Amino acid sequence: MYVDCGTLYTGASVVDDGRFTVSDGRVETVGTQESVAGEGERLDLSTEIVAPGFIDAHLHLKGARSMDPMAWVTGTVSEDAARAVADADSLLDAGFTTVRDVGSDVAIGVRNAIDGGEIAGPRVFTSGRSISQTGGHGDMHMFPREWVTDGAGISTLADGADECRRVARERHRDGADLLKIMTTGGVLSEKDDPNEPQFTDEEVTALVEEAHRVGMPVASHAQGSEGIKRALENGVDTIEHGFHVDDETVDLMLETDATFVPTLAIMHRILAEGESHGVPEHGLRKARAASEAHYESVKRAKAAGVEIAAGTDFIGPELIPHGENALELELLVTEADFTPAEAIAAATTTAGRTVPDDVGGLATGNHADFITLGSDPATAIEAVYDVERVYKGGERVR
Ligand SMILES: [Zn+2]
Repeated sequence: MYVDCGTLYTGASVVDDGRFTVSDGRVETVGTQESVAGEGERLDLSTEIVAPGFIDAHLHLKGARSMDPMAWVTGTVSEDAARAVADADSLLDAGFTTVRDVGSDVAIGVRNAIDGGEIAGPRVFTSGRSISQTGGHGDMHMFPREWVTDGAGISTLADGADECRRVARERHRDGADLLKIMTTGGVLSEKDDPNEPQFTDEEVTALVEEAHRVGMPVASHAQGSEGIKRALENGVDTIEHGFHVDDETVDLMLETDATFVPTLAIMHRILAEGESHGVPEHGLRKARAASEAHYESVKRAKAAGVEIAAGTDFIGPELIPHGENALELELLVTEADFTPAEAIAAATTTAGRTVPDDVGGLATGNHADFITLGSDPATAIEAVYDVERVYKGGERVR
């Protein structure tokens, strides 16, 4: 099959009168209608704006419908799973053909049902439950301890290098695609702070060694500079949130070829509307305190040439619903000095770096996941919400 496009965003460049060929669900050759020979069936999108399918490099396929952490621990797994299936469908509608889930107890099952062709959804790569130290970001320390150790939380607790190794091995046994760890405190956790480092060097090293031994990348929730540094120095592959990325951590990201996933979208929504959606007071306070530094961090990293991927941290409630994930692309443009083409690259080629598969831009060997947009994002970035057709592996799915 070959696809003729009006304007083609490949994820690396923008091509007028573009063409790419597809074989066995994967992209073969990409160029212009003049330079690439068409073979087999022609898909005529020659009057359309074509882009790679979007990737959300940081979300939670958790089926949450409230911002109140109490609801997350008292909800049932069956309800969460059913709602996560609906969310997967919404993501596909919005042009997201791949997502990286970084903390959920239902995403592995949803992934398997999508892979089996039983339900519709994007390609899902998941960490399963994330891993936190006791009293850390993933420990729900506003609740009784046994709710976390025995309940259906997003995180598993591990303390000491030996336990970290065991829990990392458990994630591999569960069928996780990557590991998600917490090396700082956070916004929605009550008793810690984004600037507090969490896990020792020995613990991070143990987690990373066990993951890398079996080919799993490691993502770290890391907001303050000390915890970002600790993650990078011990081999973590992606830095999530990064409120306080300073010159030293920028250099470390470049040196280690790490990817930075800032998750501007959740912060934006918490600040704009969090109060009326039940975000706890400590969350609102910490989000306000971090906001300015957060945008500065992204601009600093971008100017230095750090690889920055689009990720929303959306979980499913009305404030941060799946289906509105293109907000991250909009914010990269309006708040962080990205051009529309750079924002599309962040949500395709660069986001593809965070998962262990051939996804990302329309480039030779990648899965042929692509979408059409109703107008050109170069004119107005809001075009990224106007997804008309969605193709996954060369097949039309929307
Ligand atoms: Zn998250």
